[in-house]
Amino acid sequence: MNPRVKTPAKSLHGTATAPRRARLMSREQAGAFIRAIAAENPAPETELLYTDAFSLLVAVVMSAQTTDAMVNKVTPGLFAAAPTPAAMAALGAEGIGQLIRRIGLWQAKAKNVAALSAMLVERHGGEVPRERAALEALPGVGRKTANVVLNVMFGEATMAVDTHIFRLGNRTGLAPGKTTRAVEDGLVKRIPPELLRDAHHWLILHGRYICKARAPDCWRCQAAAHCNYKDKVAAPG
Ligand code: SF4
Repeated sequence: MNPRVKTPAKSLHGTATAPRRARLMSREQAGAFIRAIAAENPAPETELLYTDAFSLLVAVVMSAQTTDAMVNKVTPGLFAAAPTPAAMAALGAEGIGQLIRRIGLWQAKAKNVAALSAMLVERHGGEVPRERAALEALPGVGRKTANVVLNVMFGEATMAVDTHIFRLGNRTGLAPGKTTRAVEDGLVKRIPPELLRDAHHWLILHGRYICKARAPDCWRCQAAAHCNYKDKVAAPG
């Protein structure tokens, strides 16, 4: 080993891909945890801008490895140019690419949005299907994107596990798991059914603004009393 190269210190808080795991919460504790983070935001919504199922689907596809705020900077222009699947397919990957170049992976996303728009026209009469299998058959659409569309647009109690929810499920003990699917299944099993649909939003927002990746703000966390994370962070200063 090169003596001048220091081994990086291991994060106390884990990372998005390798979060530290806490002891599994009881079901009662899981319910109390969700109710606590829900208290300050009883009617949560996605932070992505959208007007219908198609614009939501496209916005979610474009949000991979990019912040919602960044996606919201390009989608108004894109949807003004192509508000329907037929118009988007006609705009094509090149035309879409010109309008979304400020977001990460814009070339691949432009191709996917053009291809999924064409498929919506060809197979679904220009409508966004509400069946999981049909959604996941669209280019660029995986389980997480399908879960968001089924939840937000069609009112289903699905759980879309993004980087924030994956970290939170492991760090807090709410639903520890090695894969996003394991965390999803754990959350669906453990969160009280009446809270499940909105829990997707509550958990994302909690992970984005309070239980953050580098260091959680435990000192201002309304769910701290129900969380199994051992190294809770005190207020700065
Ligand atoms: S107490 Fe800390 S680790 Fe637990 S949920 Fe709150 S912010 Fe996250």
